[in-house]
Amino acid sequence: MENKNLFKLIPKVDELLEDSIIEKYIDYVPRKIIVNSIRDETDLLRKKIKDGRIEEKDLVKKIEELPTVIGKRIEDKNKFNLRKVINGTGVVLHTNLGRSMLSSYVLKGLEEISTNYSNLEFNLKTGERGSRYSHVEELLKSIAGCESAIVVNNNAAAVLLVLNTVAKEKEVIISRGELIEIGDSFRIPEVMEESGAHLLEVGTTNKTHLWDYENAINERTGALLKVHTSNYKILGFTSSVSVTELCGLKDKYGIPVIEDLGSGTLIDFSKYGMEYEPTVQDSVKNGGDIITFSGDKLLGGPQAGIIVGRKTYIDKMKKNPLTRAFRIDKLTLCALEETLRLYLDEEKAVEMIPTLSMLTLKSKELENRGIKLYNRIKECIDKKFADIDLVDDYSEVGGGSFPIGKFPTKCIMLSLKNIRPEEYEKRLRNFKVPIIARIYKDNIYLDLRTIMPDDYDILIEGLLYGLTVDEGV
Ligand SMILES: *Cc1c(COP(=O)(O)O)cnc(C)c1O
Repeated sequence: MENKNLFKLIPKVDELLEDSIIEKYIDYVPRKIIVNSIRDETDLLRKKIKDGRIEEKDLVKKIEELPTVIGKRIEDKNKFNLRKVINGTGVVLHTNLGRSMLSSYVLKGLEEISTNYSNLEFNLKTGERGSRYSHVEELLKSIAGCESAIVVNNNAAAVLLVLNTVAKEKEVIISRGELIEIGDSFRIPEVMEESGAHLLEVGTTNKTHLWDYENAINERTGALLKVHTSNYKILGFTSSVSVTELCGLKDKYGIPVIEDLGSGTLIDFSKYGMEYEPTVQDSVKNGGDIITFSGDKLLGGPQAGIIVGRKTYIDKMKKNPLTRAFRIDKLTLCALEETLRLYLDEEKAVEMIPTLSMLTLKSKELENRGIKLYNRIKECIDKKFADIDLVDDYSEVGGGSFPIGKFPTKCIMLSLKNIRPEEYEKRLRNFKVPIIARIYKDNIYLDLRTIMPDDYDILIEGLLYGLTVDEGV
């Protein structure tokens, strides 16, 4: 048959739109995506005919398969960019993977608030304008034991707002040991400069004394700043000044003490057999005037910056125009309120907040999960592809908390036989539910701590996909 006649065999867009396989997408996929997918696939066939790369009998077969192939393309194009992944890294607060997962407990509230009007800034008692901050202020006051509280977009914004409010055009004294940079280019000196406060460094990297601060105080001093060093720890010949000691200077000179806690936990992890990580409650008790911390680190809530402390300062922040620019969104506020509410009962918080439950997972439970998953993988994956093992390893907390804490964990380890680990890691990443694994000494590691048991089925499907799919996918 001549080329011209072959072209005629290709169905028209309208015909394909009525095909039963393609039709079923019409209800939930934008028409443009469907039509473009049809065009992409039919154009490919046309090009093959034009180049003389296809015989008639092959073409007939291709045309029969066309709706299925188009369906796959539609699904591919309709995928969200932002999607669920399986975190096999063992890093619990993985900033690149979304840091904290919200508790499923908050979903109902989120659905209700997002699909309805709400009293976001409306006082139902008086019928007048209300404050969005009021929804979490009382909860924060009762949990943290502070006078007042406000929340903004993230902790970086919180630090900027605090410094701008209390120390603009003034000097802020900070120890050289605390001039930190954390991931994502948050550098304390740069944030300070942006806030309009001037940095006055005192002490040395490893040692700073109370008299270093006291000697630096002058009439331009606006605040004393203490920063939790988050992602590193200086060990050995060191000394730093505690908030309690700094508060002595505060009383003498009338200068506020600010503390950037970074992670800011509301529970004492040492009760769960871990190292002590400074709690917000202790910071308040120690006398800090203003304390800032993240909502999505150890607290396990949505991305937010929480500021607690003395009412006089927080009231000033509420009037700062920057607060408007850093304003927290209603869905975040809703998720934060529900997460904080769980903290009214610590046992419930530890059980229901994924960040906390992952961190406090008992080794026995990790082992049970490990054995279960190991047996299932063993059943599905042929020895000729890979050796499977259940091994001991360490998880990391991440998010700049517990910088040197080690958390014994269990990992599934795959020693691959026919494929390079880098190639396999990439295939797992490109699976329909991307699986993020770690490579160590040419083996693939999947940490049980951060993999949800509900995901075991899809995980196993992905592990098989990675072994059997064609090279180069
Ligand atoms: C993480 C962190 C921040 C930034 O918090 P975000 O919520 O990510 O903006 C600021 N300071 C310290 C000490 C931190 O650990």
